[in-house]
Amino acid sequence: MQQLAAAIGEVRARIARAAQKSGRDPAAITLVAVSKTADIATVGEALALGLTDFGENRVQQLRERISALPEARWHMIGRLQTNKVKEIVGKVVLVHSLDRWNLAEALDKRGQALGVAVPALVQVNIAGEEQKTGVSPEELPEFLDSCGQLSALRIMGFMTMAPLADNQEEARPVFRELYHLQERLGQRSFTNVDFRYLSMGMSQDYEVAIEEGANIVRVGSAIFNLEQ
Ligand SMILES: *Cc1c(COP(=O)(O)O)cnc(C)c1O
Repeated sequence: MQQLAAAIGEVRARIARAAQKSGRDPAAITLVAVSKTADIATVGEALALGLTDFGENRVQQLRERISALPEARWHMIGRLQTNKVKEIVGKVVLVHSLDRWNLAEALDKRGQALGVAVPALVQVNIAGEEQKTGVSPEELPEFLDSCGQLSALRIMGFMTMAPLADNQEEARPVFRELYHLQERLGQRSFTNVDFRYLSMGMSQDYEVAIEEGANIVRVGSAIFNLEQ
């Protein structure tokens, strides 16, 4: 627990430094602790140590954890099959991985059935990597227009992942491009779209992401892989 507390403290300090460097309030940055590799006892400890938001990338584990720790705020950050949507809508605070139109429709349908809004981020494939899913920057305006017709779905911003790299500087142009895309699109009006969140940055690159405008970072191994 002491090691975990130290790791969390270190990540928080780095977040604060990166926020200050870009002239922003560290309190405006949400740390989502990605707990996919941690056991549930450790997630409970992290919660007791003051972390509030946790991210999972698989529906089965996410469901189990929501039941075990309902007081935490849970985020879905991984690829989501449309037939699993019913298991998470109404239970997670934010879906970060809205990467295609049929998923938007499925999320909306479930939200309407339950009478709840479904907050989601559009996953944008900035780097154009084929192995990553997401909406391309070119398709994004039309995608947002279409989402505006879905009454339960609420687009709250964008998420992206930078390519894996040894040096976090390589991620900077990717994050910068998403920030500028958000700025440009923010000048147009869309229905049911609120450009509030930019979810970008993981353990390897969250400081650069914050410097480039992220206000949600998804950090897993830097918190939970304590032997590294
Ligand atoms: C696992 C994961 C993370 C966290 O990655 P780390 O390198 O462990 O910080 C962030 N985002 C997504 C979508 C993930 O799947």
